[in-house]
Amino acid sequence: MMGNPSGLHIDSHLGTAEAALSSGGCFCDFCMRAFREHLSAKTRPELLAAAGIASPDAFDFRKYVKNLNIPRDAVNNGLSGQPLYQEFMDFQLVRAADNVASLGRIAQEIADRPVTLSINACLPHLEHIVAAPQCTYLLGEVEHGAAAGNKNLHVPVKAYLMAEAIGRPLAATASMADWAFVKDNNADRLVCLWIALAYACGQRFMVPNRVRCFSKETGPAWYCGPSSTFTPLYAFIKKHASLLNDFFPVGPLSVPECLPSSFETHEKRQRFAHALEKGNPSPIQAGDGAWVFPRCRKDGLNVAHVVNIAYEAQTGKIQPQTGLTITLPESLYKRNFDTATVYAYGCEPVKVPVTNIEGTMSITLQELRLWSIIAFEYWQ
Ligand SMILES: [Zn+2]
Repeated sequence: MMGNPSGLHIDSHLGTAEAALSSGGCFCDFCMRAFREHLSAKTRPELLAAAGIASPDAFDFRKYVKNLNIPRDAVNNGLSGQPLYQEFMDFQLVRAADNVASLGRIAQEIADRPVTLSINACLPHLEHIVAAPQCTYLLGEVEHGAAAGNKNLHVPVKAYLMAEAIGRPLAATASMADWAFVKDNNADRLVCLWIALAYACGQRFMVPNRVRCFSKETGPAWYCGPSSTFTPLYAFIKKHASLLNDFFPVGPLSVPECLPSSFETHEKRQRFAHALEKGNPSPIQAGDGAWVFPRCRKDGLNVAHVVNIAYEAQTGKIQPQTGLTITLPESLYKRNFDTATVYAYGCEPVKVPVTNIEGTMSITLQELRLWSIIAFEYWQ
């Protein structure tokens, strides 16, 4: 902070909560004392009774777990059914979030001005959202299932919807295994699809100029994305920032109402997850291999991103689609339109007519390569 940075970023922000999630717990003296305080301050008496604890004052979670006689390599599974397990996880996650907030305060004190605060949050993992409300923005590895081509892209879509619902921008990258696959298979076009998908969902994708890879077969490595592939794509994003910034999603992937605004308990996190999963929302489909993401800006600008997900793993290419008609209900934007301008990556913008029939509006894209942004217009 004394070097005058504009923000503080905290990697592995979960600290011992990460160990608790993967291996059952941190059982150090500090955690045991703090958990005792947590139980005294917060826990419902019925929970203590279920765990057979008369008073939390002398309670030792380390002894409690030892007495359960769970095999060392199965601590997490063995613990997960126990009455205090979720309470211990909540405690670890809340303390991690408190730590993030306190580091943020220290950073501002030293810098003597507001600084951004960010964490590595690997969405859509629910445990990673506890500290999110304290942060200016999030960044992290989102699993894209590279080896499965376009089959697992609902995972990043879910991560982006979570970020939208939390109200914190997400700068995503893929997992180290994804990058290992991309490097080993020269799957640059697949990365282009990931980038388009992130921005179509209102989020960001970190420039893959030098990214860490890891696979069991080839070990650690670096993927250095070719600038000839990625520079024009990021130039398109920068040029059309006004079609990307400050929009919110409408349609099936809109943010549900009445979401919890903090996530310190398992119950709140589950409520958040269930609200987002209700009705199993997925992108609007167009043709055989396009996803449509309608978004609105408060001042009335309405757009629809069309992303070509027809990625062929065999050839590593995205097949252009021609004469693709996109039909949306008029209720989506609560009005109809006469024309639209299509801003497509790799093409000049073109004006196209909008056809309104029986409560639907349709436009036909002559060609969809990777990604087109349709901006609807009120008058010609
Ligand atoms: Zn500890």
